[in-house]
Amino acid sequence: MDKPKKEPVILNQTQDSKLCLNCGFPNRNTDSQCMYCRTSLTTDNGLFNWICQTYYILRWRWELKQERDSREKKLLIYRSFVFFILGVTLSVTGIFVFISSISQNSFSNGLIALLLIGYGYVTLKKIFSSD
Ligand SMILES: [Zn+2]
Repeated sequence: MDKPKKEPVILNQTQDSKLCLNCGFPNRNTDSQCMYCRTSLTTDNGLFNWICQTYYILRWRWELKQERDSREKKLLIYRSFVFFILGVTLSVTGIFVFISSISQNSFSNGLIALLLIGYGYVTLKKIFSSD
């Protein structure tokens, strides 16, 4: 296979942006240097160029997806944290009310305590069943 002849970007590009083959930054067609890393934007007009462009487009999409995933993960962690605090607070309050209801022989307080513990348990369970 012959080594493809190097040509300035402006002569062989019909797209409105030109990906830098060093860092993947999309530059204007009229640029002769990458705006981001200052690499010369002359390019091989062939299969290698096409592979590089495809690779960078895929890599950019992948990085965007990673960013979105990590944002969703952070939200999920925050949500789990709120549920955890709520669940623990409900459970601990329930246990305290339950202990005091035993010492006071109070049946209604015991029911309230069981209700609180139940809510606390359901809240804590939500952390592990959220998809
Ligand atoms: Zn660059």
